[in-house]
Amino acid sequence: MKIAVPLEVHPEETRVAATPDTVKRFVGLGAEVVVQSGAGTLSRIPDADYEAAGASIAATAAETYSGAVVVLKVRRPAAEELPLITGGALVVATMDPYGSEDAVKAMAEAGIAAVAMEFMPRITRAQVMDVLSSQANLAGYQAVIDAAGVYDRAFPMMMTAAGTVPAARVFVMGAGVAGLQAIATARRLGAVVSATDVRPASKEQVESLGAKFVAVEDEEFKAAETAAGYAKPMSAEYQAKQAALVAEHIRKQDVVITTALIPGRPAPRLVSSAMIASMRPGSVLVDLAVERGGNVEGAVAGEIAEVGAVRIVGYRNVAGRIAATASQLYAKNLFAFVETLIDKDTKSLAVNWDDELVKATVLTRDGAVVHPAFISA
Ligand code: NAD
Repeated sequence: MKIAVPLEVHPEETRVAATPDTVKRFVGLGAEVVVQSGAGTLSRIPDADYEAAGASIAATAAETYSGAVVVLKVRRPAAEELPLITGGALVVATMDPYGSEDAVKAMAEAGIAAVAMEFMPRITRAQVMDVLSSQANLAGYQAVIDAAGVYDRAFPMMMTAAGTVPAARVFVMGAGVAGLQAIATARRLGAVVSATDVRPASKEQVESLGAKFVAVEDEEFKAAETAAGYAKPMSAEYQAKQAALVAEHIRKQDVVITTALIPGRPAPRLVSSAMIASMRPGSVLVDLAVERGGNVEGAVAGEIAEVGAVRIVGYRNVAGRIAATASQLYAKNLFAFVETLIDKDTKSLAVNWDDELVKATVLTRDGAVVHPAFISA
């Protein structure tokens, strides 16, 4: 059973889908692991460390993919990679399929079984496989570090002989996995932190981290969570009330970190140009939703946008900015899932296509699109 770990071809991808630790575990299960030379470089993993863990190193992508029954990737295969992948191979990655229905079809036509790790159900058994959480947690941390790097003032209150420096006021919008880590990180740096979300369950979590919760808590708010624990799109009326409250709050903030997402939809627009204009010079916003349409008006993906004297940080792939740690956790997520698909006696891939985790994540198989969310596409 050959497992391939190719070098990511996306120019902005810094992560890798296996680490020496997960290679060792796969080898322990009887797999032959082939890592493309340089795959771990941007995550600070030299080829030699993979070799020491039991992998062999291949010079080219073609050699890496050749004959592999499992492919571990960070991003879905690019068009030029598809012909290199052996028919029937299980390709495990974050597939980012919404809005990319053609790419999903292309994977079906290439005959691969494409597993979208981001569709892993959020149930206890699958927590260890939850790539959204492992990466969002790091993105939340990194967003605060990025904000602190751009902000020309200190975060903590400092009482010095030369005078007192006030603590930065940090407002976190969206208190899911990324937002909660952003709150915790900003608190550790000594900021005065507040946060908002549309899910009522988030209020207690925000407060337990020592931040103030800011939201319009009406009847709609009390019902604004799906059974899966995600946010629902809010009515125009709620959004207007919430925007008024946020507008009043934001003008007193120094740093705003936005993380609000709704699965399968464009990110909600939460911060307007008028709100930004009300902030004092030197304020910083970090829009973690920028790749999904953005929470902040004027945010530009991949750039720091200057709007008057305020800067909006719109870095893409923020988890990838802390690549070594992101790869460590991502690789562990993939191992935890793929391990369940390996028959320990025969040391071969034995996928139970009826398993709940498999059904939830497999997009394509046997030449067809099989995931219910994409079948008509
Ligand atoms: P997400 O990335 O989809 O969204 C980020 C946050 O944005 C969410 O908290 C969402 O409520 C919020 N949001 C959406 N629209 C908003 C708006 N208009 N204004 C303000 N905030 C808005 O969410 P996530 O971080 O993946 O987490 C979603 C939920 O799933 C959370 O409750 C989280 O604790 C839970 N979760 C459960 C498990 C598990 O049980 N295994 C694992 C991870 C997360």
